[in-house]
Amino acid sequence: MAEVTIRALKKSYGGLQVVHGLDLDIHDGEFVVLVGPSGCGKSTLLRMIAGLEEVTSGDIRIGDRRVNNLPPSERDIAMVFQNYALYPHKTVAANMGFALKMRGMDRAEIDSRVKRAAEVLGLTPYLDRYPRALSGGQRQRVAMGRAIVRDPQVFLFDEPLSNLDAKLRVQMRTEIRELHQRLKTTTVYVTHDQIEAMTMADKIVVMQGGRIEQVGAPLELYDRPANTFVASFIGSPS
Ligand code: ADP
Ligand code: MG
Repeated sequence: MAEVTIRALKKSYGGLQVVHGLDLDIHDGEFVVLVGPSGCGKSTLLRMIAGLEEVTSGDIRIGDRRVNNLPPSERDIAMVFQNYALYPHKTVAANMGFALKMRGMDRAEIDSRVKRAAEVLGLTPYLDRYPRALSGGQRQRVAMGRAIVRDPQVFLFDEPLSNLDAKLRVQMRTEIRELHQRLKTTTVYVTHDQIEAMTMADKIVVMQGGRIEQVGAPLELYDRPANTFVASFIGSPS
């Protein structure tokens, strides 16, 4: 069974339709990248999956639950944004555990989850530091740590690397993929960068103008693009 199932999904803002009847299956453990030019509806789709944006019509299922009308906190997802704000007056450990504390989880369980996530992310030596004493890459890892400790069914990433410099961006691509190898959590990752999509995805979803142009493995899209849009988008240098 697909982990995330999207059927005839539409979104309008006022009179303006920005998502035009999408169908998509995201399978258990898959790393799926949504890619397309700015304004094509990637964030809108991701935010509808997250429950941060209302669905105009159609269905979104996570596992066997229809989630259209569930608030984000009940969807068993965790999202990492481009503009992750860490709490400046909390340590790395407190930043990572904060959402769990708000949910009333007990101290020992929070500590053990934070410790495990820190190990996976190489943050163990930094747990008592404050965000201002971290590098950009370390801050980004803390933002991912906040998602990991929740142990969600699905990770949602919206352009998480676009504020990092080019060198760090390349390094973080590899780290996020390695993380996925270890955790195998179903992931939906949004980017406008086709190189990022080609190097990270199990499956790429190419979008344009609120529609899906093609879905396939990176090499499939490269070898057999469905149309000239996919060919020029995937084939062009970033
Ligand atoms: P992407 O993430 O692919 O760059 P978005 O999903 O952010 O694209 O936006 C898709 C379209 O929806 C764009 O035309 C954008 O201007 C429009 N849009 C996004 N959010 C809103 C909003 N809150 N109100 C009105 N229009 C919006
Ligand atoms: Mg966006």
